[in-house]
Amino acid sequence: MKYISTRANYDLVSAAEAIRLGMVPTGGLFVPENVPTFTKDEIYQMSKLSYQEIAYQVLEKFLTDYSQEEIREVIAASYNDNTFAKEDIAPVVKLNDNTYILELWHGPTAAFKDMALQILPHLLVKAIQKGDSDKEIVILVATSGDTGKAALEGFKDVDGIKIIVFYPNDGVSKVQEAQMLTTEGDNTVVVSVEGNFDDCQSAVKEIFGDVDFNQLINQNGYQFSSANSINWGRLVPQIIYYFAAYADLLRDEAIEAGEKINVSVPTGNFGNILAAYYASQMRLPVNKFICASNTNKVLTDFLKTGVYDINRDFHKTISPSMDILISSNLERFLFEMTGHDAEKINGWYDDLKTTGRFEIDEATKAKIKDIFVGEWTTEEETQATIAQVFEEYNYTLDTHTAVGIDSYQKYLKESGDQTVTIVDSTANPYKFSKSVLEALEGESQEENEFKILDTLNQVTGLEIHRGLQDLEEKEIRHNRSCASQEITAEIKDILGIK
Ligand SMILES: *Cc1c(COP(=O)(O)O)cnc(C)c1O
Repeated sequence: MKYISTRANYDLVSAAEAIRLGMVPTGGLFVPENVPTFTKDEIYQMSKLSYQEIAYQVLEKFLTDYSQEEIREVIAASYNDNTFAKEDIAPVVKLNDNTYILELWHGPTAAFKDMALQILPHLLVKAIQKGDSDKEIVILVATSGDTGKAALEGFKDVDGIKIIVFYPNDGVSKVQEAQMLTTEGDNTVVVSVEGNFDDCQSAVKEIFGDVDFNQLINQNGYQFSSANSINWGRLVPQIIYYFAAYADLLRDEAIEAGEKINVSVPTGNFGNILAAYYASQMRLPVNKFICASNTNKVLTDFLKTGVYDINRDFHKTISPSMDILISSNLERFLFEMTGHDAEKINGWYDDLKTTGRFEIDEATKAKIKDIFVGEWTTEEETQATIAQVFEEYNYTLDTHTAVGIDSYQKYLKESGDQTVTIVDSTANPYKFSKSVLEALEGESQEENEFKILDTLNQVTGLEIHRGLQDLEEKEIRHNRSCASQEITAEIKDILGIK
């Protein structure tokens, strides 16, 4: 299995190379040359397998340059009783006959990013061993909160790798910030950046494309790589849980073999929903993909009109991990939907760069509309959904999952589609305690997020996630900050380069 660039501007590479490089060095993203498939019976047989065994089946198809033993080692190191507290790595919880919640936050940092970031460092270490580079890998991460901590936890104390995380000083919660700033490990660095997430992400993306700077880094014995969801090694592990969830539904007899499901995904960078799409290309029976957005609804508008337009206000919402205007992984999706037409992708992304917008052709638009639905949720609706679901089902949603539920409910109302639907739960409610508590109890003057955790615990009775307990007592270990234009200088300083 080889990987190609969405911009047709790079040679074919192996999975290990794609993972090592993170992004195509000349711009663009790596995607598999063709998507492998399972038979209907293979998918049915997964209902008898563990998460780890399903993971093996999926990874083996994509990582053909990794040995069977390597894949098994990587899985064992990533998905175990230490990293995931529950025996069930990604449990499916029934809300009602149509609605099932896929809990993706049982990893160490209480966010769905753990699903991929527990495994990526191990995939990367093997990838480095396969190459002939003697450079130390420096992982650069731009985060809107959850990715940063999940990456830090995944990479801390992994030999031969350094990780530098940049987060927007104005775009993460106190709990998220505390999680990051208390990270241990000798190879971890955390930097607060002035501005919003898009500024932060764009600055980091530019560094990956900055040939001169990369050369300078190389001369000093380093090589950049990415842990953002643009890295194929982030995406492929996310395909696994869609098969595992389907297997759960089969096991519980919620569906029959071959029956189609819907998936509703609270979306930001488009990685999670893209993984669901790839699962469907591997023959997982999916009817509709519901792309759920908050008030930063650039994707909803795109799915309705075929115009992707970032010339709009950026809203800070109570679901901050979805506060994104440039959804990087959309590029991969469009590449797939155009039948790998790199010329179109180049045109659209040139337009995006120069004008902040692009418009896709009618044929591609129709193809997308056939399977994707865009819905969005206001702040008030997010809060109301948290209250409604708690009252009706005694189940506590975080703000992002609430967007997924509300968007699904809107779709259900409009379409009457009774298909069994999986709604991805992308964060444990304690990660966004203040907003969740306010949704349940009304506005509060309490500003101390750590106290709020305890209050939420009293109101819901839900156990505080282990990754969020006792955060105030931990030592702050990081104190760097810079402007988004200074990121290059900051990196030089961190690596000791003149
Ligand atoms: C990252 C994140 C999302 C968005 O996922 P994408 O793969 O970027 O679309 C949604 N919710 C939470 C809690 C997240 O951390």
